[in-house]
Amino acid sequence: MARGLVLALGGVALALLLGIGWSYDPVLPCPMFDVSLPHCAWSLSYVEARSKFLTAMQPRASIVDSLALGGGLFVDVAEFTGRPDHVVVHVSGTHGVEGYVGSAVQIAASAFLAPNASGPTVVLVHVLNPFGMRHTRRFNENNVDLNRNALFGPEAEATRKRDPDVAGYETLDSIINPRGPLTWPALLRWGIDAASVALSRGGSAKIRRALITGTYTRDKGLYFGGREVQPSTRLLVDWLARRGHFERADKVCIVDVHSGLGDFAKDTLMLQADFAYDALLTKPRQFQGIAVPWIHPHSLERMSGDTSKQERADASVGCASHMFHLVFDKTQRARAREATHARLSHAVQMT
Ligand SMILES: [Zn+2]
Repeated sequence: MARGLVLALGGVALALLLGIGWSYDPVLPCPMFDVSLPHCAWSLSYVEARSKFLTAMQPRASIVDSLALGGGLFVDVAEFTGRPDHVVVHVSGTHGVEGYVGSAVQIAASAFLAPNASGPTVVLVHVLNPFGMRHTRRFNENNVDLNRNALFGPEAEATRKRDPDVAGYETLDSIINPRGPLTWPALLRWGIDAASVALSRGGSAKIRRALITGTYTRDKGLYFGGREVQPSTRLLVDWLARRGHFERADKVCIVDVHSGLGDFAKDTLMLQADFAYDALLTKPRQFQGIAVPWIHPHSLERMSGDTSKQERADASVGCASHMFHLVFDKTQRARAREATHARLSHAVQMT
C-alpha cells in the first residue's frame, strides 16, 4: 500500500517535472556575448537587450544613435548605409513586452549585416516602446498603444472626431475596463457580465473587434490610441527626417516585429500594402524555401481557411508601420508637385 502510494506520488512528481521541463524553455547561458551564436541574441530584460544591441551594432553599423526618452529609456537606432533610394526599416518593441523577439532578430541579424553601397540602406530601430519592454507592458508610459497612435494630419483629426463607439468600445466599456478595486464580488460580477456577452451570438467577436479598435477618448482604457503622437514615435520620425531617407528613397520596406499574434514559433506575415497581396497571390508564399503564412490585417483571417481566430480589425488605424508610409507618401506627393512645377515652368519657357 505504502509502496503504491510512494510510486503514485513519484509518478505525479515525475509528471510535474516533465511538465515543467516541457513548458519551461530557459534561455541558454551566454557568458561571452557573441552575435554569431543565435541563443546569445536573446535577452531577459530591456537593459540586457539594449546593451547587447549596442555592443553588436557599434563595430558593424555605419551609424548608431540613441534617442533619449528620459528615465534611462532610449530608442536605439543602427543604420547600415547602402543605396539611398532603397531603405529597409526594421522595428522592434512597438508593443513593449513584445520587444524580446524583435530585439533578438536584430542582434542576430547584425552577424551578417554590413554597409553595402549596392544594397539597400538598413535601419534597425531597437524598441520603439522601451517603457513597455522594461515594465512588461504592451502600452507606453502614457498608457498609449503605439500601434494605434501613428496618426498624422487629417487622419488624426478624423480619428479623434469619429464616433467613439464605432466598433462597440463604449458599449462594452464596463467589460473592457472594469472599475474599482479588485475584490472577489467585483470580479465575480465582471465575470458574469463578460461571460453573458461572450456567450451571446457573435459576442466574443464583438468584444475582440471593440478591443482591437481601441479608444481615443478613454485615457485609462485598454488599447488607448492617445491624443497626440507619442514622444518615441516623434523622436524616430525626426531622426529619419534628419537622415533624409524619405526624401531620397524610392522604395521603402518596413518590418515591424510583433509576437502577440500567429502560431507559436512560426513567422507570419501581416502585409499592409495592397500590392503585396497581388504579388503573393501569384507567387509561392515562400522565403528562402520556407513557407511563410500570411494574414490580412483587416480581418486577421488566416489564409489557410482556418477562421477560428478571425478577428475584425477593419476600424483599427494608426499602426506604427503606417507612419512611414505617410511620411513617404508625403515626400512622394511633394516630389510629384515639384516635378509638375518643373514641367510647367519648362513648358512656359518653351512657348
Ligand atoms: Zn504587438
